[in-house]
Amino acid sequence: VPQNEDFADIITLDERGYVVSDENCLTNLEGIFVAGDCRQKKIRQVATAAADGAVAALAACEYLR
Ligand SMILES: Cc1cc2nc3c(=O)[nH]c(=O)nc-3n(C[C@H](O)[C@H](O)[C@H](O)COP(=O)(O)OP(=O)(O)OC[C@H]3O[C@@H](n4cnc5c(N)ncnc54)[C@H](O)[C@@H]3O)c2cc1C
Repeated sequence: VPQNEDFADIITLDERGYVVSDENCLTNLEGIFVAGDCRQKKIRQVATAAADGAVAALAACEYLR
């Protein structure tokens, strides 16, 4: 069960409370990224969470540059 309520006012959550993002782990709000089980996706496993972490980190680096 996602616990994303604290972010509900700033980023888009789906009807089940998962963070909506694109394949690059970008949320609707510039500069806010999401990774792992708390985001909306089909497969929630260690491999997909770790992959999200890499994707989100690189997206954050690109944003900062
Ligand atoms: C019973 C069970 C069995 C599973 N078996 C497998 C398996 O065999 N193979 C597999 O690949 N996947 C398995 N999974 C799924 C896998 O565990 C998850 O997909 C993966 O752990 C997600 O990683 P995450 O970093 O997104 O989230 P999590 O591992 O849940 O990490 C989130 C962390 O954030 C912390 N946190 C939460 N709120 C806050 C806060 N406000 N402030 C600070 N910290 C906070 C939590 O304490 C937690 O440590 C299983 C899951 C469960 C529940």
